Amino acid sequence: MATASGIDFSLTEEQELLRAEVRRFAEERLRPGLAERDRSHRLPAGELAEMGEMGLLGMLVPEELGGAGQDPLTYCLAVEEVARVCPSTAVTMSVTSSVCQWPIARFGSAELQRQVLPELASGAELGGFGLTEPESGSDAGAMKTVARRDGDVWVLDGQKAWITNAGIGKWFVVLAKSDPSAGKKGISAFVVGRDMPGFAAGAPEEKMGLKASVTGSLFLSGCRVPASHLLGEEGHGLRIALATLDHSRLGIAAQAVGIHQRALELAVAYARERVQFGVPIARHQAVQFTLARMATELAAARALTWHAAALSERHADAGRLASEAKLYASEAANRACFDALQIHGGNGFSEEYEIARLYRDVRVTTIYEGTSEMQRLVIARHLLAR
Ligand SMILES: Cc1cc2nc3c(=O)[nH]c(=O)nc-3n(C[C@H](O)[C@H](O)[C@H](O)COP(=O)(O)OP(=O)(O)OC[C@H]3O[C@@H](n4cnc5c(N)ncnc54)[C@H](O)[C@@H]3O)c2cc1C
Repeated sequence: MATASGIDFSLTEEQELLRAEVRRFAEERLRPGLAERDRSHRLPAGELAEMGEMGLLGMLVPEELGGAGQDPLTYCLAVEEVARVCPSTAVTMSVTSSVCQWPIARFGSAELQRQVLPELASGAELGGFGLTEPESGSDAGAMKTVARRDGDVWVLDGQKAWITNAGIGKWFVVLAKSDPSAGKKGISAFVVGRDMPGFAAGAPEEKMGLKASVTGSLFLSGCRVPASHLLGEEGHGLRIALATLDHSRLGIAAQAVGIHQRALELAVAYARERVQFGVPIARHQAVQFTLARMATELAAARALTWHAAALSERHADAGRLASEAKLYASEAANRACFDALQIHGGNGFSEEYEIARLYRDVRVTTIYEGTSEMQRLVIARHLLAR
């Protein structure tokens, strides 16, 4: 566990037990059929239901609202172990937990929390987060979706793009301009349900990676959302979205660490087996150097991630720590997958080898929940604000 002044990375007994349990579950339940699900773009629905029963789909929600009431570090340990085997399942888990349930648990009214959190936290339903639009990604303040008050409801119009769990999720935290004349201060956050009139989800995107996860557009056409589904105060939406991302980036960092871990394992195993020039390629020093760099960067990425997670709810600079972890872990994991594939030679280019899928899956970690460039801007902003 980490303290504000120093770092002690010994995990508690409960954290070690959960980590081992999730690793066993991922190996036994998620690994079988992995390649086939990737080919057929199919989420492991039954296994996700089991994860819900294990409390893995509502880790950040308090127990009284049906969650597991876990701390962010324990959550990161679980995401890492799921991502080591199935990054698609990890992003599904991380999105419903951290960008949907977390802001509802933090900013939603007691009535709204009681309505939506128990079914989300139990995994009976999945959630999502609608910030990105076709013409606004990094520049979230430029969104075009609007919300107009009409008596007891808000009426939302607009399109959200690239939304994880679109089409399979029930509840979405959606950002919209409730006062377009107020710029970024006129954005509000709403919890929108798929059964609300005027809500529709588009067809799943054809992605290069994370093919077993579902990503698509949300269409809001006069979508009528009860006023009680506003999160926090009117006009606080962008603040809520940024606070949510400051927290949720820990999950993406953990996802990257899990993928990195697996890439290293695959590279070591292949280097031991593959013989060229009469010896296993692991005997060639150039290959050893690559493995050593991958291992060192993995340790650094994991340390940054655990550190940021352990301090996330009690450090003034928690957002910067999460951005540093996400930036470093995602870029290091991309390097690791590139190098691991290189060590596999031509076989690495074959879908028969796991590294080919990891190489595709890891790519998006430097893009979603804020690109690497946006993380650098966040980090610099914290430094320069002092
Ligand atoms: C698989 C997947 C799942 C996703 N899930 C979700 C989701 O659930 N919910 C959601 O809301 N969004 C989601 N997204 C969207 C994702 O968060 C955005 O793609 C991301 O924020 C980048 O936005 P953009 O794609 O519009 O790129 P742009 O903002 O158009 O950026 C393009 C390039 O320009 C760079 N750039 C932009 N502005 C600057 C600047 N000021 N300085 C330097 N460089 C800059 C960027 O870093 C990037 O390299 C998902 C995306 C993917 C691919």
